[in-house]
Amino acid sequence: MKPKGIFITATDTDAGKTTVSFVLGVLLHQKGIDVGIMKPIQCAGRDAQFLKKNLRIKDSLREINPYFAKEPISPHLAFARQKIAIDIEKIKKQYQALSLIHDFVIVEGAGGLMVPIKDNYLMADLARDLELDVVVVSKLSLGTINHTLLTIEQARSCGLDVRGIIFNQIKKGKGGIPEKTNSQAIKKFGQVPILGTVSYMPKATRNSVLRQCKNKINLKPLLKQETKKASQRLKKEDREYIWHPFTQMQDWQKENPLIIDQAKGCYLRDSNGKWYLDGVSSLWVNLHGHQHKTIDQAVCRQVKKVSHSTLLGLSNVPAVELARELAKITPKTLRKVFYSDSGSTAVEIAIKIAYQYWQNIGQKKKTKIIHLAHSYHGDTLGSVSIGGIDLFHKVYRHLIFKTIKWPTPYPDAFGDKKIFAKDFSRSIDRLEIFLKKSNQTIAAFVVEPIVQGAAGMIVWPKGILKRIEKLCRQHNILFIADEVATGFGRTGKMFACEHENVTPDVMCLAKGISAGYLPLAATLTTQKIYDGFLFDYKEQKTFFHGHTYTGNPLACAAALANLEVFKKEKTLKKIQAKIKLLEAELKNFKNLFHVGDIRQKGLMVGIELVKSKKKRQQYPWQEKIGVKVCQKVREHGVILRPLGNVVVLMPPLSISRSELKKLLSATYQAIDEVTESYV
Ligand SMILES: *Cc1c(COP(=O)(O)O)cnc(C)c1O
Repeated sequence: MKPKGIFITATDTDAGKTTVSFVLGVLLHQKGIDVGIMKPIQCAGRDAQFLKKNLRIKDSLREINPYFAKEPISPHLAFARQKIAIDIEKIKKQYQALSLIHDFVIVEGAGGLMVPIKDNYLMADLARDLELDVVVVSKLSLGTINHTLLTIEQARSCGLDVRGIIFNQIKKGKGGIPEKTNSQAIKKFGQVPILGTVSYMPKATRNSVLRQCKNKINLKPLLKQETKKASQRLKKEDREYIWHPFTQMQDWQKENPLIIDQAKGCYLRDSNGKWYLDGVSSLWVNLHGHQHKTIDQAVCRQVKKVSHSTLLGLSNVPAVELARELAKITPKTLRKVFYSDSGSTAVEIAIKIAYQYWQNIGQKKKTKIIHLAHSYHGDTLGSVSIGGIDLFHKVYRHLIFKTIKWPTPYPDAFGDKKIFAKDFSRSIDRLEIFLKKSNQTIAAFVVEPIVQGAAGMIVWPKGILKRIEKLCRQHNILFIADEVATGFGRTGKMFACEHENVTPDVMCLAKGISAGYLPLAATLTTQKIYDGFLFDYKEQKTFFHGHTYTGNPLACAAALANLEVFKKEKTLKKIQAKIKLLEAELKNFKNLFHVGDIRQKGLMVGIELVKSKKKRQQYPWQEKIGVKVCQKVREHGVILRPLGNVVVLMPPLSISRSELKKLLSATYQAIDEVTESYV
C-alpha cells in the first residue's frame, strides 16, 4: 500500500504552498482525519511554525522540520553554506514516524520540483523517495498555464503521479479572462484533475478557511489509497493470463506471486509497497542500479528522437555509435558488430556465422561444434543444441542438432580439486589428440569463458581458457566466447577473456550490455570472418539472418549510457574492494553444515547446498532446496533466484558495502533456517 500522505509542490516559490497545506489540513481535520505536517527542508521563513501552530499539531518543530537554513536561497546552497549535510535517510525515517502517528501526512516541499537539495538530488527525488504522489499548487493569474503544464510534465517524467492541481487566488477580486479560463485549459492540456481554488484570504485562519473553502476543494483524490485490492487483482490476473518462463505453472497457481511495481538503486518494490534488495540483478542484467539518472535520461532523450527504425536497409545513430564503442572496449581483433535482442540470439548468430564462414570459403567439411558439458547458451533450438544441461536438453533431443560435448573443467562439490586439476589437464591432452585428428570437420569451439553461470557458477581453474584458445588457434577452429553472463564487469574485468588475455574470434554479448534496461545483444567478429562473407551478390553467400528489432535505437542508447557510466563512475575500479569484501565474508558460509562448495569470480557467486558433506550426499532435486532458501530469504527482504541446489548471488555492480553485507547476512540466515530443519 502506498503511504497515506501527499507531497505539496508548486509552480513557483510564491504560489502559496503553505496556504494550501494549511487549507488542506483544516479541511481534512474537519472530516475527522488526524493530519500530520512535514516541511522537511526550509530555507528562511516560518512556514513550519505557522502550520504547527495553526493546525494545532503536537509534534515538535524538529520533527516537522528536520532541516532549517537561515538564508532564503536554494537549499543546496543554503545548507552547504551552513555546513549542514542533508541526510535523506533521516528525512525518510522521520516521515515514516509521522505517518505512523497520523492518519494522513501533508509534506510540503521547498520551491518547485527542480529545486536542488544537494548534489545530484532534487526536490522531485525527495517526493519519489518518500513514495508520495504530488499535488501542484498554482497561482491563479496570467502566465500560469505554461508554468503549471511544465510542472506536470516534469513531475511525470520524474516518475511522480500528479493527484491534482489546486489554484491559489493571490489577488482580491474576480480577476480577468486568465483567472476564469486557466483551470479549464490546464485540465485539458495537462490531463489532470483540478481539485479546486483556494479563494483570496489576506490572513488565513481556521475560520476563514472553513468559511471560504469548505466544499470548494475536492479531497477525494487525495485520500484515494492504492489498496491491497489493486495488488490482489494484479496477482489474480497474473495467474489468469501469464505463462511464466522456466516455471511449472501448476505450482505457480498455488503460490503468492510478488509483483514488482518499482525499483530504485539496488532495491525492488512490490505491489504491496514492500522493498527488497535485488540480489541477482534482475536475473544478472542490472549493473548500475535501477533508475540510474544517466541511463534514464539517455533513454528518454532517445524516445523523443526515434524509438525504433530498422537496420535492414537503413542505419541509425545510436546503433552506429554503440558498435564503434563496443569495438573499442572488446579485445582488439573484434571489429564487426551484429546486433540482436537476447543472449540466445547472440549465440545462435555466432554458430550460424561460424558454420557459414567455413561453407563460404570452401571448407565444406568443417561443420561440427564443440562445447562443454554443463554449458548453457540460451533457449532457442540452436543454442539449446550446444547446451550441456540435461534438464533443458532431453525433451527436445529430436529437434536439436548433434554436437561434440567435452567435460567441464571443474569437479563436483565433493570432488578433490587437486586430483581433478590433474584429470582435467589429462582431459585437455585428450582434447589435443582429438583435435589433431578431427579438426578438418570442426567449425567452432564455444565456451562461457571462466564462469559457467547457469551450471551453478562453475569457476574454472586458471589457465584453462588460454589453453582452449591456443588449441583452437593451432587447429584452425573458430573460438567463440559467450560473454553474455560474464561481460560488462561481472567477473571484475570488463570481459572474462581479459583475465587470460584471450582474443576470441567471435564474442557474444547480452544481459549487462544495456545495464539491465532493454533487450539487446551483440555478436562481435573479426575482420577475417566478416571478409569470409564478402562475395558477389549472385553467389548467395550473404549472412541470411536478422531480427525485426535488430539495433533498436532505444536499447543502443541505453547501452551507450551504460558505457558512459562505467567511465564516469569508475565502476571497474570501485568493484574491486567489494569483490574482496565478498570473498572475505563468504568464508563464513563454510560454517554452515549444508554448504558444500562456495564458488566466486568477481561479483558472481554460487553457494552449493548439500544434504551431507560427510556422506557426500546431494539434496535430491525434488526437494527444491534452492527454491526453499530463496523463498525464505524474501522474509529477510532479499530477492534471489537459485540454480537447482545452488544459491546464486549476483548483485548490481553498484551495490554498496552495507547493502552487500545485508545481502550476505540475509542469505546466511535463510540457508541456516531452511537447511537446519532438513538434517
Ligand atoms: C543468459 C545466458 C544466455 C541466454 O541469454 P537470454 O537473453 O536469456 O536469451 C546465453 N548464454 C549465457 C552464458 C547466459 O548466461
